[in-house]
Amino acid sequence: IKQVSKTYHNANNTLTVLDQIDLSITKGETLAITGPSGSGKTTLLGLCAGLDSASSGTVALSGITLNELNEDERAAVRNQYVGFIFQNFQLLPTLTALENVMVPLELRGAKNSKTIALGLLEKVGLGSRSHHYPIQLSGGEQQRVSLARAFSNQPAILFADEPTGNLDAETSERIIKLLFDLNKDAGTTLVIVTHDNELAARTNRIVKIKGGSIIADERLIHA
Ligand code: ATP
Repeated sequence: IKQVSKTYHNANNTLTVLDQIDLSITKGETLAITGPSGSGKTTLLGLCAGLDSASSGTVALSGITLNELNEDERAAVRNQYVGFIFQNFQLLPTLTALENVMVPLELRGAKNSKTIALGLLEKVGLGSRSHHYPIQLSGGEQQRVSLARAFSNQPAILFADEPTGNLDAETSERIIKLLFDLNKDAGTTLVIVTHDNELAARTNRIVKIKGGSIIADERLIHA
């Protein structure tokens, strides 16, 4: 992303949430975005993923300039390249766990979407909960359905907004392992917004933002 700014306007004031950000993420990287509450992390993630559009600047994903596209075209790019795990899961309440995971598969026209979705739910340890609705699942279980849904289109890049927020240590470790296995096994690029320093320390790179600007960009070398 190049010289990207995001400004919100309301009746009384204008709020610049991101101010001329430059950030380049390489295929296969694992990157954590950290910073205080309200610093613009979720906004930045949404712009990188093409969920929202920048007020100015350029956002490109896999060589495609997102800000030149309309919403339908952006959605098609997202469906092809992007997985997104939302802070509050954003599962569709009227669909079962299985149906939630099937949605991106059906959108892509997958023939055996049910079998693939069941396999993904088994992978996240929820094979026996596939017919439950989100309201019948715990927070950690909903997070795992959200993860299975994000994996389902085999994304080149996975964005995760606080994937371990509000989870107990055991569930949190299970989710982190699933994320990093995906990077190791499929080469999926991971971009994780987190307040968890231990999780950030397991990535290859930590980008810190404050007041809408990048204030540090550190590469980590693991033994
Ligand atoms: P947290 O760690 O608390 O999740 P964050 O760093 O992810 O915070 P953002 O969610 O990106 O922060 O929000 C950055 C700022 O933008 C906040 O001040 C927020 O109130 C503001 N903001 C976000 N979305 C909107 C919107 N749609 N309209 C107006 N202001 C917004």
